[in-house]
Amino acid sequence: MKKIIVANWKSNPEKISTAISLARASDKKGAVIAPPHIYLDIVGKTLNNAFLGAQDVFWEKYGPYTGEVSLSQLKNGGVKYIIIGHSERRKYLNETDEMINKKVVAILEENMKVILCVGDTADVHKKGISAVKRHIEKQLKADLKNVSQKMSKNLYVAYEPIWAISTSKSNSLGKADTPEDAVRVISYIKNVVDKKIHGKNIKVLYGGSINIKNVKEFLFEDEINGLLVGGASLRPKEFSR
Ligand code: PEP
Repeated sequence: MKKIIVANWKSNPEKISTAISLARASDKKGAVIAPPHIYLDIVGKTLNNAFLGAQDVFWEKYGPYTGEVSLSQLKNGGVKYIIIGHSERRKYLNETDEMINKKVVAILEENMKVILCVGDTADVHKKGISAVKRHIEKQLKADLKNVSQKMSKNLYVAYEPIWAISTSKSNSLGKADTPEDAVRVISYIKNVVDKKIHGKNIKVLYGGSINIKNVKEFLFEDEINGLLVGGASLRPKEFSR
């Protein structure tokens, strides 16, 4: 199975000119570039090899939803992958599992690819692997309500331990999970999704402080189908390597 590497630029960069050069430098086969909405059009026009991704969407196709960007707008703008349920949105915007579930279903019904983020907090992590599994299972059950087996071909899950996000600098290992522990949780995610929606072969990515020093250990794990990369995706030389 081919692995994908997703660049989550979050609310960066500050200028359109930087976004264009970042897109040029990151335009590799197997990559998905997810810029902020404001840059989707120009980044989409710049990419020749990578797929275009978005960091969120509203669940309706169009209508009176001030400030929101709709599914039809993203689809017509060339977006192929949409990240949903990122822990920063759950935390700062109070996105609930109910909202996330509506978005997941709407995206899959449109035949677009969704990258559903789930992950444990530091407090849950401290309690051990059983607590982590229970936490993730609860999120998956709520977020995948009404998702059928047929829809699951476009479903990606990203396991992002929240305590491991945004801790990495290129010259250190940051606080990424160990590949072994990430694989344990990722295998569990695959089992839960299989039991819930008979979604065999769903793809599960790892995200959390991936950088040039630790990337290989994660990519060599067969069970990990790709990576979601935040900070390092803003360092173009490092990301393209
Ligand atoms: C993320 O926020 O999705 C992420 C993986 O960030 P970072 O790589 O910076 O930890």
